Amino acid sequence: MKYAILGDIHANYEALTAVLADAAKRGVSRYVCLGDIVGYNASPVECLERVRELDCPVVRGNHDHYCAIDTDLEGFHPIAADVVGWTRSQLSDEQRAYLGALTYVKRVETFTIVHSTLDTPEMWGYVFDKLEADASFAYQTSALCFYGHTHVPLAFEKTDRVRVGLYSRIKVVLGRKYFINAGSVGQPRDGDPRAAYVTYDLLANEIELHRVEYDFKTTQKKIKDAGLPDRVASRLALGR
Ligand code: ZN
Repeated sequence: MKYAILGDIHANYEALTAVLADAAKRGVSRYVCLGDIVGYNASPVECLERVRELDCPVVRGNHDHYCAIDTDLEGFHPIAADVVGWTRSQLSDEQRAYLGALTYVKRVETFTIVHSTLDTPEMWGYVFDKLEADASFAYQTSALCFYGHTHVPLAFEKTDRVRVGLYSRIKVVLGRKYFINAGSVGQPRDGDPRAAYVTYDLLANEIELHRVEYDFKTTQKKIKDAGLPDRVASRLALGR
């Protein structure tokens, strides 16, 4: 059984379809989504409906959360706030209700999925360092947890201490805990503009990070046509 772990799709339909095609080639039969289906890019409806077709476990991201409710966006980055307002106007009431019903944390078979952190998932903290990862490990009841939110693929491993590193393939070792960022499908921020996602082979107990080229020029054109901020489009070419 092979899962594809899809994080931070962010309304990038071209990246999502490229990733799904790649996953199918690799024999993936199940999917999970780490949240932030919408926000930033210009295809929220297409991405949301495509994820719903996968009929897979999904957790709530901060963008999903703020697109689902009508609160004002004080404290949001101005560019992100612009797009949240626009995204709200694109989604139907039913689609917003779907996003608003998502839970923060989910157990899937033997592993856990969360958008931000396990210690305070509703606070949308970022896990970049060992101290932040250790706070999540304290609440992690499964050996393996996948998370998103930073858009930077990074693996934390806990034995008697926490270690961190970049990864491309991880063989899961019994008795250790793993807190793994699957990267971002729709807005990578690690300097590599290719879409990122992870496969997890349950039988082999192996995790693999994949990068997939996609037609970001079309995504950029849609962003410009929708009147969304230029910076949202230009960053896709840089992976920042
Ligand atoms: Zn995100």
